[in-house]
Amino acid sequence: MTSFSNNIFSVDTGYTREKFAAVHLVIENDKVLIIDTGTVFSVKNIQNALERLGLSFLRVEWIILTHIHLDHAGGAGQLMKNCPNATLGVHKKGKRHLVDPTRLWTSVLSVYGEAKAKKLYGELIAIEESRIEVLNEGVEINFHGRVFEIWDTPGHAKHHILIRDTKTKAMFSGDTFGVSYREFDTEQGCFCFISSTPTQFEPFDLSKSIRRILAASPPEIYLTHYSKVGHIQKIGQELLLQVDEYVQIANESKEYGAQTLKVIQEKMLALLMNKAIDHGYTGSKKRITELIWLDVTLNSAGLANWLNASS
Ligand SMILES: [Zn+2]
Repeated sequence: MTSFSNNIFSVDTGYTREKFAAVHLVIENDKVLIIDTGTVFSVKNIQNALERLGLSFLRVEWIILTHIHLDHAGGAGQLMKNCPNATLGVHKKGKRHLVDPTRLWTSVLSVYGEAKAKKLYGELIAIEESRIEVLNEGVEINFHGRVFEIWDTPGHAKHHILIRDTKTKAMFSGDTFGVSYREFDTEQGCFCFISSTPTQFEPFDLSKSIRRILAASPPEIYLTHYSKVGHIQKIGQELLLQVDEYVQIANESKEYGAQTLKVIQEKMLALLMNKAIDHGYTGSKKRITELIWLDVTLNSAGLANWLNASS
């Protein structure tokens, strides 16, 4: 667990590797608001973090999902079971998949097969509809006097919201403001890149969401992958450039027929590799590849999917 100012904490979900995916906690008046849950295997880490803070699951009042991709929401059902006083907040397009996770699970099975799906995500537990609150654009959650504002932020996924802390002006952006692994921190700051995972990547919407974030000038943003980043204007300009670069990669690759996905992957790896090196990362190319390979494959699949859908 990492402690930030203003009673904000991050907990490592343990998903994939260390410092890959975070859960964030905000504490007010000894009550807890949780943003994203990790998977069912992350619930123990959240419990440990609460105990270290002298709290328990009984103090959890809100569990808010930035979106329903399983590295963010896979543990929501189990966590809601463990937190009897909590309300689950989610985008209107995500709600029905939490009430009945069958479709979500079927799509995971189609990507990973049963053995790997179970290893990655365990199982998905349904949440009672009466415990779910749809969080639309403009909703304000008054959490013991600290108001959190909900923004609808499509682009990474259609079911994506952002949570803005009006007390600190900080934001919890899920995957809308890219991903940034702490291994790439250099004297130039954080290295961030766009997440275009399947199947709802929409570059135009994503740029719009990023511009909206920049216009509000948050002092810092808490990403799910991985936690707090500063220098928001600089990162944001780079992310806007990258959206265009991703689109260019997709367009340049579409002539390759059956090889399209492979070509996108090669170009995506080269683009992000060069950016990491320009950013001053001094580790080996092999290490860079290890750290970003999962993103490269998912982002490439998302771009290929977008090409198909938009052609
Ligand atoms: Zn996602």
